[in-house]
Amino acid sequence: MNIVKKNVINLKPYIPGKPIEETKREFSLSRVYKLASNENSLGCSPLAQKAMKESISSINRYPDGACFYIKRALSKKFRIKSDRILLGNGSDELIDVIIKTFVKKGESVISADCTFLEYEIISKVNDVRFIKVPLKGFKYDLEAIKKKINSKTKLIFIANPNNPTGTYVNGQEVNRFLKSISKEIVVVFDEAYIEYVDKKDFPDLLKNFQSNVIVLRTFSKAYGLAGLRIGYAIADEVLIGYMNRVRQPFNVNTLAQSAAVAALKDNVFIRKSRELVLKQKKFLYKQFDKLGIEYIPTVANFILFRLGMDCLVFARKMLKKGVIVRDMKQYELDNYVRVTIGKEKENMTFIKEFVRIIEEDI
Ligand SMILES: *Cc1c(COP(=O)(O)O)cnc(C)c1O
Repeated sequence: MNIVKKNVINLKPYIPGKPIEETKREFSLSRVYKLASNENSLGCSPLAQKAMKESISSINRYPDGACFYIKRALSKKFRIKSDRILLGNGSDELIDVIIKTFVKKGESVISADCTFLEYEIISKVNDVRFIKVPLKGFKYDLEAIKKKINSKTKLIFIANPNNPTGTYVNGQEVNRFLKSISKEIVVVFDEAYIEYVDKKDFPDLLKNFQSNVIVLRTFSKAYGLAGLRIGYAIADEVLIGYMNRVRQPFNVNTLAQSAAVAALKDNVFIRKSRELVLKQKKFLYKQFDKLGIEYIPTVANFILFRLGMDCLVFARKMLKKGVIVRDMKQYELDNYVRVTIGKEKENMTFIKEFVRIIEEDI
């Protein structure tokens, strides 16, 4: 095939968690729980819903390309200047903008071998090399990443907490790493799940900010706005300035902008979401322990666990029982599955069906 670029031929498509409606249709089910994509099972803030309804009347107009109000709200929240913030159509778009802004053909991107798949896919779409460094004990191995750096290295992605493992690298490790590498290498810390973290030694990257660091955050997870597509980057204003030239002019839609401004004000909703996850995490750990299931302790709203059977077989059995979980085939962890921590009822159903599958298997 000469019609398509070589780097595109070799791409594997991203396989998302199966949507609820599709699962209902395919298996003739009336009740389906989705615990596959780390979404917030409580929905989103009622304030965000109200704000969205109010903006519907203005959707004949283009959105505010500068995202003024949401930048102002974030700038107040974090006490940083607005020009250190860039909004994106989800952090997925910002990953693309970052690669396009900083990495030339012939240069390379480094990340872990078992991490958010978009880093690799988007690097390859942009025809730049993607180097994978193995995790160590399911955790990012910053020392090993440092050893892989060479004159071609331009960008490093660190998902912190990591998806799909739920592990994190602490402040001390991060500081040591940042001190030891060239300031010409851009280091992206993707903090999609930071709202759920309950560890005192988690790095506070917004304090003593370094000129080569970019922090990514999103409204898709704890804020419950995955369907709207909105995320943001915080970095030195010089880096943000260049990224701002690369992004699409109207990348964040009107409804997403209004909902995000309102969602940021709703501390009660975030607190509830966090408390639910922390409480339900304990419930799931206890059930896994009882069943003798090995799992990786997590600081996010999902748990990676190990099975005695192939993950595809397990996920398919779960689907038939109306519970969508994420098999780890794409991550080459054939005996692992990732489950999102949901509401009490969802988690209980997940465990109940899990037990039935194990019993059927014996
Ligand atoms: C879910 C997830 C994202 C995606 O965020 P969007 O803002 O929805 O594009 C980014 N990074 C990681 C590590 C994630 O798990």
